[in-house]
Amino acid sequence: MQEVKYGRVISCALNGINGILIEIEVSLLAGMPHFEIVGLGDCAVRESRNRVYAAIKNSGYNFPQGRLTASYAPAWLKKEGTGFDLALALAILIASRQLKIGPDKQPVCVIGELSLTGEVKPLPGVICRVGACVSKGIEQMIVPAQNYNEAAGISSSKPYPVRSLRAAAAILARNIDQREDTANKMLLDHSKDTGHTIICNNHFYQHTSSKSVNAAEDHVYEDALLQFSSIAGQQRALRGLILSAAGWHHSLMLGSPGCGKTTLARCLPALLPDMETDEAREVTMIRSSAGLTGENDSLIKKRPFEAPHHTASRGAMIGGGNSPYPGLCTLAHQGILFLDELTHFASDVLDSLRQPLEQGVVNISRFNYRISWPADFLLVGAANPCQCGNLLEPDGKCRCSSESVSRHLNRISGPLLDRMDLTIEMTRLKTDELPNSVSRQLSIEPALIARQAVANCWQRQRERCLEHGVEPVHNGRVSGRDIADLFEISQEILQYTANASDLLNLSARGYIKALKLARTIADLENDELIKQEHINEALQYRLYRSRQ
Ligand SMILES: [Zn+2]
Repeated sequence: MQEVKYGRVISCALNGINGILIEIEVSLLAGMPHFEIVGLGDCAVRESRNRVYAAIKNSGYNFPQGRLTASYAPAWLKKEGTGFDLALALAILIASRQLKIGPDKQPVCVIGELSLTGEVKPLPGVICRVGACVSKGIEQMIVPAQNYNEAAGISSSKPYPVRSLRAAAAILARNIDQREDTANKMLLDHSKDTGHTIICNNHFYQHTSSKSVNAAEDHVYEDALLQFSSIAGQQRALRGLILSAAGWHHSLMLGSPGCGKTTLARCLPALLPDMETDEAREVTMIRSSAGLTGENDSLIKKRPFEAPHHTASRGAMIGGGNSPYPGLCTLAHQGILFLDELTHFASDVLDSLRQPLEQGVVNISRFNYRISWPADFLLVGAANPCQCGNLLEPDGKCRCSSESVSRHLNRISGPLLDRMDLTIEMTRLKTDELPNSVSRQLSIEPALIARQAVANCWQRQRERCLEHGVEPVHNGRVSGRDIADLFEISQEILQYTANASDLLNLSARGYIKALKLARTIADLENDELIKQEHINEALQYRLYRSRQ
């Protein structure tokens, strides 16, 4: 009887931000040379034949003769990308008896793309794939060395970093206790040089690492700290911004062109507390699956800040495409989505934000997939208050009629405006304020104080929720029917707010917004109970349209 030549290696595919385990089997039979991959692979998977062939030869192994069939299971799942190259090459080496796996049978998941020289290249979504393996009980993984920091972000995972097909084969051939030493040694060998250098065909290639997200997020953060300190004479707007951050209140900034709305919004990342580990892991998974993490990046700690141009399409905003790609509202998850020139966005784009604003997720259905992305962000919009932009300026230069002002703001859809808890009104600096705004010594101190106040406020909200036995949630996200109990508002204050709303002609929604914002103001002042002065301040942040 003919002896069976067979190899099997586990790998992991990416579906949105979820990893799905893939079994790669290789069977080698006698016959004319033939190499086929079956199991719903895309172009990159079919092309992997050529890469794997070259990588095996160039790593000093023999490519087996005969009929070689590789099968990727489960067959129903569409397999995309180049992440299975390394697993396929190893399965071929096992089937052709050039690689013998160590005697212990602990499963190892293998991910990585191969270059023609047998070098292992980094991949998107490594942290997602590692997370899926751990949840299925597979703790050991062979990952591209450049993705090691990301993979190590999943606790209880045991990633072995590799830079070449030979290194991966060496790790598989060893027992568990020897694997760690092998992997460490390989990493050390390569860490001596700054970039990985290979010489082939007398050409000299230098791989420099791609732009690091970790470095970029530090830059955004420091920039934001300085921005905050550079804003002089806009104390009321800064207060509004701090309230927005402190209670996670979606907000709208209105003011004439050049009054500093964008500068103000860019301060927000400095005010928000760093992410908890769970949040950081989720955000890193999203960015990694979109290929937005750099080599050697670890978990992202700072909150994202996305500021799309007003020409952004609906698809760019909520995600989708032929292969699922996260939209801006998913990339802004746990961070800020800043929409400048809000009135210029297409109405269907703004409407598409309704579901994420209500549910914190985006569900996308296409003919070939159905996916649910997390999309829980702090929405900050900025717009001119009227067509000419001067409506709020005290010098009365605005010539817009009240109909035209109404029409202007109606470009922002009602449901979106309803979700914005506070309106921050801004005017241009007065002439006597201008010298102050440029000559002041920049210090990050005020920003750090504000940041600490926001962090304390978050802590207070958290503790209050836990005392009431509910899942911790920010004031801005508490639903209307829960606020009286959770916020411990006295009957007297409820009545006071109702009377004030009646006087100001506010809707029921406006009444609830005022109570929520007042809770945040009280939290910022460390007051147990909401007082009249808190309500009075909260009412100042209502949209001016409802004041007329
Ligand atoms: Zn105007």
